[in-house]
Amino acid sequence: MSVEQPALYLPPVHRAFLRATAAAEEEMGFLLAQNVMFEEEYITTLLCSRLVPEVTYVKFSKQQESRVGGDYLWWWVDRSGEAFGCLVQAKVIHHKGRGWRIGFHHETRTGLQMDQLLAASDFFEVLAAYAFYAGDAAYRSTMRCSQRHHGVLCHQRQGAGVTILPALNAQRTVENARLRATAPPSKLPFLGGFDPIEDVFHHAEPLSRLTEPGRANDDPASIRYYRMRLGPGMNGLRELLTPGQIGARKVAQFMTDKLAQQAAGTFETAVLPDVHTDQVEVGGRVFDTLPGARGHFGRPFFEHALRGLRTGLPDYVEAALRSPSDGVPAELAEHADGLVVVYL
Ligand SMILES: [Zn+2]
Repeated sequence: MSVEQPALYLPPVHRAFLRATAAAEEEMGFLLAQNVMFEEEYITTLLCSRLVPEVTYVKFSKQQESRVGGDYLWWWVDRSGEAFGCLVQAKVIHHKGRGWRIGFHHETRTGLQMDQLLAASDFFEVLAAYAFYAGDAAYRSTMRCSQRHHGVLCHQRQGAGVTILPALNAQRTVENARLRATAPPSKLPFLGGFDPIEDVFHHAEPLSRLTEPGRANDDPASIRYYRMRLGPGMNGLRELLTPGQIGARKVAQFMTDKLAQQAAGTFETAVLPDVHTDQVEVGGRVFDTLPGARGHFGRPFFEHALRGLRTGLPDYVEAALRSPSDGVPAELAEHADGLVVVYL
């Protein structure tokens, strides 16, 4: 950045995210004002189309009728060539009585949607995440989470209309809420208590934060805790978890932090063996060894997140962008509805 640049200089890619998420929020408000509920596929297409030209996207032709059409494979790639991948499923947050609902457990002909998302993320070897579409400020105004985010209420955060959260965080939060619902009243004070969907929404971050200049986050005690516990062979991961990352690593850190923060709240007594990957050359992964900690997520969460951090974009990305009409590999279109490439 040159000295002439104003202090509030925003990179073009970040301006694109501010513009697109504002357009999505405006459209959701516009539809709500007409008593029309917005749908995942429509908002996803609108959002992606407004990210252009700073961001490139391709919408695949439908391969499976069972999907709702909101699963996009996202890749953030920086000037060093490093890339971070994420399979993102769009979810509308619905009003339900006095509370809220997200159709996480929507059943398709081939099983539970949440399981399918994780299976598809395994296929691509990337992190699974949700993007939440939460309408406009008026729609969210009855949300009751009273915890503040840098002094601002959850539903009043800038960009709260379109947020993102690793799927494992959402799954864990919903499960905790289920346990809370069946817990004896004497335990309730320890388990907290607001709407599980508001709890999920509280942890989700505005999508535009991923491209925001400056530090992605503070250095919470939970992350320092994980850094301290890493063995000598984990210097690369220790560095990634240190504030001040840029490019694809910054996005990777942001999402990994989300998982590590929730995992740090669990009491994992067993020391699990590290996870090794042999395919560093083939798959281009940045990390070939990661801690086996599961943090009650049911799977090693560092591996789940950071398998998506690569030394370069996978070959299929270029193939899909080159000629989207016939160049999209069939298995790619079978597991995702579209591809988004963010050049950082
Ligand atoms: Zn909150």
